[in-house]
Amino acid sequence: ATPTALMVGTGRGAQLGILIKGPEVLESTRRVDTVVLDKTGTVTTGRMTLQEVYVADGADERQVLRLAGALEHASEHPVARAVAAGAEERIGTLPAVERFENVPGRGVQGRVEGHEVAVGRLAELSAALPAELARAKEEAERAGRTAVVVGWDGAVHGVLAVADAVKETSAEAVRELRALGLTPVLLTGDNRAVAEAVARTVGIDQVIAEVLPEDKVEVVRRLRGEGRTVAMVGDGVNDAAALATADLGLAMGTGTDAAIEASDLTLVRGDLRAAADAIRLSRRTLATIK
Ligand code: ADP
Ligand code: MG
Repeated sequence: ATPTALMVGTGRGAQLGILIKGPEVLESTRRVDTVVLDKTGTVTTGRMTLQEVYVADGADERQVLRLAGALEHASEHPVARAVAAGAEERIGTLPAVERFENVPGRGVQGRVEGHEVAVGRLAELSAALPAELARAKEEAERAGRTAVVVGWDGAVHGVLAVADAVKETSAEAVRELRALGLTPVLLTGDNRAVAEAVARTVGIDQVIAEVLPEDKVEVVRRLRGEGRTVAMVGDGVNDAAALATADLGLAMGTGTDAAIEASDLTLVRGDLRAAADAIRLSRRTLATIK
């Protein structure tokens, strides 16, 4: 590959909204056969909203919103932001948090108004789910919503359904990636039913769900171990290690600095179609050179 042609490819990338770390990146881009896509913030907008509040028989809806909202207010996770904003909108000012702990890929826990509160998909919460809330959770997840379980003082009191929207361009992007002969895989820490609903919407068959943040990198390693050449597209702090380990890391320009720094390419506009543009560009650029 002549340096001049690679530089031209890099310049063309910039026009397409693709920032390329160095001309040599085009070489690995060309060989990719599998594209692992993070769900939240990559395939979906990641701008979540609180849609539904389910409470256990006899529980107080305002109290569920107060305690969950207060605790989530201290977290920056997109699910947490949706819960805090939705709670504030419905009940006004939230109480102060006395203790707070983030549990990556699972939720938050801490102390609010003297109660020991846990929010998210923590194992102890799922174990204590009353039947009416188990049904609500299942219904929400089947509809593609993330169910957030709210418990305090050893009992579960509510389930919040949070919705994210699939980006308008994601289905088209998946079609383009397939047309280039690539296999798309959806990877997420979210629930399997939610992940499958999103996968169906955009046309992905292979879903790897309920993966803890630190295990995303293992998924990429495993796929590489099967002899695949793997591109990973992500936006979150959670995705950084997987982005760095993939043969090609692509970050959403709308995502976190950690993801961008760990990647070889940045899709400036956060439009997944630019991933297909990048592959096409690298193939063309390198074909010109041969
Ligand atoms: P993703 O892989 O989709 O970007 P994460 O790994 O960050 O998601 O989180 C996985 C799942 O853990 C989320 O879909 C959500 O169900 C749950 N979760 C994580 N953080 C929180 C939180 N602060 N509040 C509620 N639920 C959370
Ligand atoms: Mg994400």
